[in-house]
Amino acid sequence: MQRFPCPFCGLRDEREFHFSAEAGKTRPDTTQDVSETEWRDYLYAQANPVGVSEEIWVHIPCREVFLMKRNTVTMEVLSSRALRKEHTP
Ligand SMILES: [Zn+2]
Repeated sequence: MQRFPCPFCGLRDEREFHFSAEAGKTRPDTTQDVSETEWRDYLYAQANPVGVSEEIWVHIPCREVFLMKRNTVTMEVLSSRALRKEHTP
């Protein structure tokens, strides 16, 4: 069993997390015509790199979305950080 670091809750059991997407994808510009192929690629096509990968994950108990950098070969988690910015008055 692997443990993943939630930036808000700390180390937790991997079963508490849900993979959301590869990081770095750009949403198609919906002010222009977007083909079915562009939507399919945006939603479902994954580079699935061997080695270091940056991914968007959700920690289900706290419902926070965050960026996790991990090695897909060794399964080592290299870092995790929140995607939201703290509210400053
Ligand atoms: Zn959490």
